[in-house]
Order: sequence, then C-alpha cells, then structure tokens
Amino acid sequence: MTQLHQEIVGIDAAIFMHPTTWKASGHVDAFNDPLIDNKDSKKRYRADVLIEDYCEKYLQKANKEVEKARKRFGESFDEDMYRKTNPRVLGYLEKATEPTARLASLLEKEDLAGVKALIEELEIKCPVSGSMNWTDVRQFNLMFGTKLGASADTATDLYLRPETAQGIFVNFLNVQKTGRMKIPFGIAQTGKAFRNEIVARQFIFRQREFEQMEMQYFVKPGTELEWFEIWKERRMAWHQSLGIDQSNYRFHDHEKLAHYANAATDIEFDFPFGFKELEGIHSRTDFDLKAHEEHSGKKLQFFDHEENKSYVPYVIETSIGLDRMFLAVFSNALQDEVLEDGSERTVLKIPAVLAPVKAAVLPLLKKDGLPEIAQEIIDDLKWTMNVQYDEKDAIGRRYRRADANGTPFCITIDHDTKEDKAVTVRNRDTMTQERVAIADLKSYLEPKVAMSEWLKKI
Ligand code: ATP
Repeated sequence: MTQLHQEIVGIDAAIFMHPTTWKASGHVDAFNDPLIDNKDSKKRYRADVLIEDYCEKYLQKANKEVEKARKRFGESFDEDMYRKTNPRVLGYLEKATEPTARLASLLEKEDLAGVKALIEELEIKCPVSGSMNWTDVRQFNLMFGTKLGASADTATDLYLRPETAQGIFVNFLNVQKTGRMKIPFGIAQTGKAFRNEIVARQFIFRQREFEQMEMQYFVKPGTELEWFEIWKERRMAWHQSLGIDQSNYRFHDHEKLAHYANAATDIEFDFPFGFKELEGIHSRTDFDLKAHEEHSGKKLQFFDHEENKSYVPYVIETSIGLDRMFLAVFSNALQDEVLEDGSERTVLKIPAVLAPVKAAVLPLLKKDGLPEIAQEIIDDLKWTMNVQYDEKDAIGRRYRRADANGTPFCITIDHDTKEDKAVTVRNRDTMTQERVAIADLKSYLEPKVAMSEWLKKI
C-alpha cells in the first residue's frame, strides 16, 4: 500500500483512544453480534452465521449439480443456461439466497424474534446436539472495556480498539496537513484489534486479539463508487499475485449494508472449512469523519483548491486480517506428498517471498572445513535474506525439516565444494538440484525470494 502508491502513507495510531471515539463511530451502540444458544449442548452460535452456513450448503449443492452436468454434456455445456433453467439447480439456488435476503431485512429491522423464527423454519440443528432446542436471539456487544483512573468512582470507561480504522479517521487532519496530502489520498496502518468474540473457533480464523491491515482512501464526494470498483480490482489482483489458484477467491457483495456504507463487498477465500471472509472493501461515505466532527466539535474537512471549497471527503476502506491472510496462505500451502520412491514428505509450499527462512545452509558433514564454508556463505547472504544453518542429522532429514517449514532453497556444501567453489542448490517444490558457484549464489537466489521482485508482478 505505502510503497507502491505515492499517495498512501502509513501511521501507527493508539490502541486506547478517547471513549467518545467509539460513541462517534457507532461501536458503543451498534457493534453487536446476534447470538443464540442451544439449550441441549449449551453451545453458543452467531445466529447470522448459522443461517449463512445453511445457505452455503445449498450453494455447494447447486455447484455440484453444475459440475456433474458439465461432465455429462462435455464441450457443448452451457453453464449459464443450465443455472437458469435446471429445476434442481434453481431449487438449490433459491434455498441458498432467499434466507440470506430475509436475514438481512430482519437484522435491518432488529427483529431478533424473526431471526429465531427463521432458524426454526429452516430447521437448522445444533451441529453438536443435533437438536433445535434454541434460546431467543440476543444482541451482544463485541467491545472489550476497561477502566482509566485510580479510584473506582472517578474511573472512566475505556475500550480496546475493535478496529484500526477509527485511529485513522481521528488522525485524518494531522496526516493530511503534515503530509500535504491532496485528495484522493490514503492512510494505511497495521495493528492489533480486539473483539470479545464469543465463538472464537476455526484455529486463527476468529480470535479475540488479532492483527488488522487497513487502508482508508479519501475521495471527492460523488466519485466514491468509481474508487470502490478500482480498489476491488486492485485488492483481488494483490491476492492473486501470491500464486494461489483463482478458484479459491470470490467476491461476496453485501445484501445488508452497515449503517455507514453505500457499497460493500468481501473477498472470500476457500478455507478448509469453506468460503469465508478474508478481506472487506467498503464504501463508508462521509459517515465517520462527520460523526467525529460532531462529537469533537472540530472540523475534519479538506480544502479543494480546484473547486475552491471545503468538504468532508468520502472514504473507501480496505480491511484485511493479517492472521486470516496467514491462515489462507498456510492452509493452501501445507501438503503431504508421496514421492516417487514411495516415501512421504510434509511440505509447506508458501510463496518464497513470504517464507520466513529463504535458504537453509547445510554442510554435508560437521568436519573437513565444510561448516566454515557454510558460515562464509551465511555471512555473505544474511544482509539481504534470512538464512538458517543446520548441521544436525543426515542430509535427507535436514531437507525434510526445511520442506516442512517452507524454506524454498537448501544449499548443500560437500567435499567437491572445496575444489570447484560451488554448492548444490535444491528447490523445495520441484526437489531438483543445481550446481551453483558460491560467487553467483546471491544473484541466483535474490530474484526468486526478494519482495521487490514480487511487488513488480502485482
Ligand atoms: P466476520 O464477519 O468474519 O466477523 P467482520 O465482517 O466483522 O468479520 P471486519 O469488521 O470487516 O470483519 O474486519 C475486517 C477484517 O478483519 C476481516 O475481513 C477479517 O480478515 C479480520 N477479522 C475480523 N474479525 C476477526 C477476528 N475475530 N479474528 C481474526 N480476524 C478477524
């Protein structure tokens, strides 16, 4: 965001902010999840997620029908037509979309009894107990609160930030003035966010303490929907630059728009437990800046010299969880492979640019001067990439360890190295080996592992 775009700058805002910040943003009053409990299993669920999972099941069924038909009809298959006319597919698609639309309108009206009735009507069962013995649906605020002050009676309520975005909004003018930024421009940051998630499950998909990477892009009112489309495209291109198959990503446009948005979409990823949100892209209008103006009594406006007037900019936001991003890459990359000789290996095929260790440096033996040569290689490479020395166990076991932690290259120093001043470089994914002169190692590895080379491909 900040390196490739001249008009986007980074900040690091506070985690604790003035409590009125969260009143202004709407989080105190409206940052709620609708929860429902199963009385038999005593498990608690997000009512909206139960309904969304139900719909997803029917969407998958429809997709399966389409795939079956594709196989049956071969080349002449017209997918569009089939989706529009096949009664079974239409039935599944209806079941996949109709409840989502009803859920959206019930939540809009805050009709929680209606949400419960919908769950009962769809006969959604608790995955644990299998029963439909549900409690009423209740709203639950997701902010973590704490106290500021020495004594209980004078203490003020504080909140840990549930998103990084508000830190950007309250700093909008600081950044615009000191950076002399002109509309359109963006402010980006990465940082911790905290949410009192009741159902923190699915490994690191949903946590109570997580890392967000957000960017707020300030634009002229009236141009926001054009920018929304541009950022949708840019963000999808960014995801796809990582080389994960395109079929793992899809857009999911929001039916129910949050109170601040006039357009919103999620980039969803096919996690091992199905398609789920990875990143949100929202057109937030001028809701946030205006709310902060009202609550702080300070103007948060931009003076547009071309138009010769001040206005509150509109905002396009891109918001992604670093942990979820990691989970997406990790779950896609971790593979168990059976090799030609029948042996097995666990290999983490993460893109080299993201691999924590770029190369393992392995002397074949712990003697005969080989470790010393390994050290010289490390001393040469360590300035531009993270390399790791490993001399323990047979070379095959060391290769397996490097495969499992995603190290894209292994550099082996053997007895010939002393004569030919060259090493064997093994590729993690193809397992092919190449003899490379020590003097050429840096120029051989750098284009394959460097962030700069990957950035050029976006
Ligand atoms: P969900 O619908 O999954 O609860 P959300 O719509 O509340 O997510 P946003 O408020 O749009 O999420 O937050 C932006 C991004 O932050 C999400 O796309 C996700 O990647 C990440 N994120 C949100 N909540 C969590 C969490 N509890 N744990 C990890 N990452 C999260």
